[in-house]
Amino acid sequence: MGFCFFNNVAIAARFAQAELGLGRVAILDWDVHHGNGTQAMFWDDPTVLFVSLHQWPFYPGSGGPAEQNETTLNIPMSAGSGDGEYLHAFEHTVAPAIARFDPELLLVSAGFDAHVDDPLSEMNVTADGFRELARQAKGVAPRVAAVLEGGYNLETLPDLVAAALDGFVA
Ligand SMILES: [Zn+2]
Repeated sequence: MGFCFFNNVAIAARFAQAELGLGRVAILDWDVHHGNGTQAMFWDDPTVLFVSLHQWPFYPGSGGPAEQNETTLNIPMSAGSGDGEYLHAFEHTVAPAIARFDPELLLVSAGFDAHVDDPLSEMNVTADGFRELARQAKGVAPRVAAVLEGGYNLETLPDLVAAALDGFVA
């Protein structure tokens, strides 16, 4: 819908399957917007689990509570959600779903537009929250890789990426 020409995480998932011989790949999308393109690409594909945490209702409008299937898990988050809500959702919904799917690789669509100072969203996630999300994501699959997605405050973005990298290697 205009934010990207290529879906990097979808290409990575297909590359992992076609070129690296991996079977089951999970995608965790914590960008504040619903990952509608990624969802559309893998909706009918039982080998790719797609999990999206996003502000809802919000642009682009998709990803509501009724939009789910065996390997598509949408977790709509209320405006104003912060570290506590995100980490609660991760622990109680995201981590069990990924554990059940048992992927060989987890790809993270790591957007930072749920940050409290991002101009596009109404969320309150902090650098510590992204660090902890990354730390926990690393623990749910044998291999984890991340791609940078949204993030529209160029003053805070470097520190948020650094915090997430810190969590991924912790
Ligand atoms: Zn976004």
